[in-house]
Parts: sequence; C-alpha cells; structure tokens
Amino acid sequence: MESDSEQRAERARTDDLAGAVARLLPALDEFLRFEGPDRALERALWQPRLEEPLPERGAGAGAVLELLAEVVIPAGLRIGAPGFCGWVTTGPTVVPAAAGLAASVAAAQKWWQSPGNFLEAQALRWLGDLIGLSERFTGVFVSGGAQANLVGLAAARQHAGERLGFDPSADGVAGFQEPRVYSPEHVHHVVLRALGVLGLGRSALVKIACDRSGRPDLDRLDDAIRDDLREGRVPIAVAASAGDVNTGRIDPIDRLREVAHAHGLWLHVDGAYGGFGVLDERVADQFGDLGQVDSLAIDPHKWLAAPIGCGAGFVRDGDLLARAFALEPSDYVDVKVPPDVALPSVFDSLGAGDPDHSLEHSAPSRGVAVWAILKEIGAAGMRARVRRHLDCARRVAERVRAHPDLELLAEPVLSICCFRCHPERIRSSGELERLNRAILAEVRARGRSIPSSTRVHNKLAIRPCFIGARTGLAEADLLVDEVLAAAARLLQN
Ligand SMILES: *Cc1c(COP(=O)(O)O)cnc(C)c1O
Repeated sequence: MESDSEQRAERARTDDLAGAVARLLPALDEFLRFEGPDRALERALWQPRLEEPLPERGAGAGAVLELLAEVVIPAGLRIGAPGFCGWVTTGPTVVPAAAGLAASVAAAQKWWQSPGNFLEAQALRWLGDLIGLSERFTGVFVSGGAQANLVGLAAARQHAGERLGFDPSADGVAGFQEPRVYSPEHVHHVVLRALGVLGLGRSALVKIACDRSGRPDLDRLDDAIRDDLREGRVPIAVAASAGDVNTGRIDPIDRLREVAHAHGLWLHVDGAYGGFGVLDERVADQFGDLGQVDSLAIDPHKWLAAPIGCGAGFVRDGDLLARAFALEPSDYVDVKVPPDVALPSVFDSLGAGDPDHSLEHSAPSRGVAVWAILKEIGAAGMRARVRRHLDCARRVAERVRAHPDLELLAEPVLSICCFRCHPERIRSSGELERLNRAILAEVRARGRSIPSSTRVHNKLAIRPCFIGARTGLAEADLLVDEVLAAAARLLQN
C-alpha cells in the first residue's frame, strides 16, 4: 500500500488552469513589452535558479509557476521584439499564442473528430486558398519547414520509385541507381538533410550554378538531367526556393517546372520563408503558377506568426503521399464501429486528415492557431503585413543607396535587404570584413535592432529580414540608424 504522502506526492494539479495561467499573465505581458535590458544574457541570474539534479520530491505547482513567472519568462528569447530582424522565425502574436494554449488543452490528438480536427482541415484549405494552390492539393501540418520539405521530397521519391516499378516506402531505395535531385545553389540546408533521411543521400543533390543575380542556368540544368539519364543515373526531382533565406530571391519556378516536367521529374518548392510573399502583387508574378507545382513547403510559424512548431506541406497528389507515409495496420488502432451502434463515441472514428500523410502519429492540432490568425486578420490583414515587410526592405535599400558609406549587396525582392558599410577610403576586403563584423556585433549588443549576417558574392552582408508582426518602417529606419551610429564610433577609434 502506498502511504498517503506518496499519493499526495504523485498528484499533479488537474484543475484551476485559470489560476495557473493568471499567475503567468503579468510576466508574459511584461515580456511582450520587450523593455529594459535583455535578461536572457544574464545567465548568472537565471541558471542557478533552474539548475539542479532530478528532484526526488516535487516542489508543487506553486513553485513551478513562480519559477516560470519570475525566472523563465523575464529572461525569454526576444525573437518577437519589433527590432528583431535576425531570423526568418519570429514570435507569435497574441491570439495564436492563446489559441495554442487552447489547442494544447482541448484539441489534443488532431486526428480525432473534434472542432480542433475540423479547424485543422479548414486552416489547410484557407492556407491553400491564400497562396493560390488549387483545391486538389493535400495539405498536412508538421513541426516546421524542415519536415514540410521532407514531406514533399518523400512524395517525390515515391513518384520516382513507382515510375520505375517499385515502392520505395515498402521496399527501400536500392532500386534507385545513383538518384539525383537538382536545385539552384542557394538551396536551404534542410533539403540536403531530407535527402539523407530519405535514403537518397546528401550527395544526390546537384547544385545548379546561378548568375550574379542568383538566376539558375536552366540550360545547365537541362544538360545535367540529360547527362544523368544517358549515364544511367536516376533523376528524381527539381527543388526550387520561393524565397531564399540569404537574400530573399525567388527562383524562376515556372521555368524550373517546365524543365522538370519535360523529363517527367517532380517539382518541389521550398516556400518556408517566402511562400506568403505571393500576396504582394509587386512580386506575385515571380512565383508563377503555384497551382502547377507538385509539392510545396510553407511555414505558418514564420510570416504568419503562429507559435513555433508549425509548418505545412502541400502535395498535389495526396495518394502518393499516403503511400509514402503509409502506416501498417495495427491491432490496437481499430476504429470500425459495428453498424448497429446508434451513437458511436468520437473515439470510434477519425476526423479529417490522414495519419498516413506525414511522419507524425500523436500530434497537436497546430491548425487551430493558423485558423485563429486568419480568422483574426483575414487575407487582407496578411496581405497588408507582407506588403509592410516588403516596404521595410525597400526602405533600407533606399537609405543605403542614398548614403555614401553604405553599399547595397543585393536588391531586395522579398523582405530581406543585404548591405554593408563601405567607406570609400577602405579598400582592403579584409578590413571591410572586420569593420562590418564589428558593426554587426555592436548593433546586436545594443539590442535595439537585431539583424543577422550572410555572404553575398563572398562579401559579409548585414542582413535584416523583416517578418515580425510588430515590425514596421520605424524599425527599418532604426536598423540603418544603428548601423551608421556603430560605424561612426568604430571609424573614430
Ligand atoms: C526556415 C526555413 C526552412 C526550415 O524550416 P524550419 O521551420 O526552421 O524547420 C527551410 N527553408 C527555408 C527557405 C526556410 O526559410
């Protein structure tokens, strides 16, 4: 027999969620003001309060909530701050964050009939409508762009195997003699990893050279496919970027699709960052007809500001997807209800969607947060957000062009603007590199504006990516002001 105190020790709090959340809310609202010094940096203040061996006796709900409110939240990672323009990921807005909590409590296990399941399916349809996919596409929410790209490429692998007369999902990939996937050279590194996981191998990727403006050489692509076919290798897919994370450029998707389809290959599009860019008519043409691609990855946890952990994969032929991710039958999942049962339990029937469409089995209803955002701001709200962020990149470019000490390294296409500080008297590339590294470090340390860096034509670039829902033209100006101020200080010394 367990003693009374052991039973008490086991019991996690199971009621008064309102009280628990209320304990955290003032700290969360304070965090969302992003004021004062960044306390994540002050590791000496938070780590000692959190670090300890596995406790034998639980501290109880109150102690946990106190640590969350007083230590974890105040020292949180400020990626949703207005001045943060470092990554393509950003913090959630308020309604999807609240929806995420609601879903985690009341819409767990997305496959079963419930409003959560219904909203998940509706959110996928809304996403498809928003970016111009035809109704034929099958969508699935996954953890992010990395998995969404893997879902698309798994369908591509299935397509290629079945054309050769075998089922790679069932029988493995030995039937592929030297598989090949082609992509313009700025392909995101998660695509390479997906090829590794899918058994095609990272070395299956053939990078197609691009000209100075980042346009892939389509003749070279065509030649590479022909050569590979002639020599007995197995071309599988062409992977395009709808928004490269370095500069934001968009591959010529229609042209790449024509080349791919001419050889019977799959055309996959990585739109994890830039897919929503199609909402701005200034660049919409560059996306071509997304309804004609074979698969597409898009990340609601980026431009849409869903809580982190939400990507979406779309595939035109959903049956292919179901074969790529088929789950074998299992004795313990049996949902066949005898016909004479009048009122079946919801646990007797799956809702919309299909567990055979991704890597997941148990999974949260991520679509509830996506529904919440689109219901809150509508398609028009999302178009306005994308437009504002493209304006931000153009504002930075304008100010860079107007300043003698700044150099534009790539004309903005989406919401990224790559530039550097380049005073005329500094000629050595090493010195320029050191100066811009120092500027970046100083700007980021001041914490008002947080850009990141990349390399453009092998030059170190200051790279703001405007994507945060709290970020607008004031932050675009602030970034340029911060860079100029840091440069002035550094050049004085
Ligand atoms: C972010 C991103 C990825 C990876 O997606 P995660 O959501 O980080 O898993 C892949 N490709 C592009 C273009 C991206 O922007």
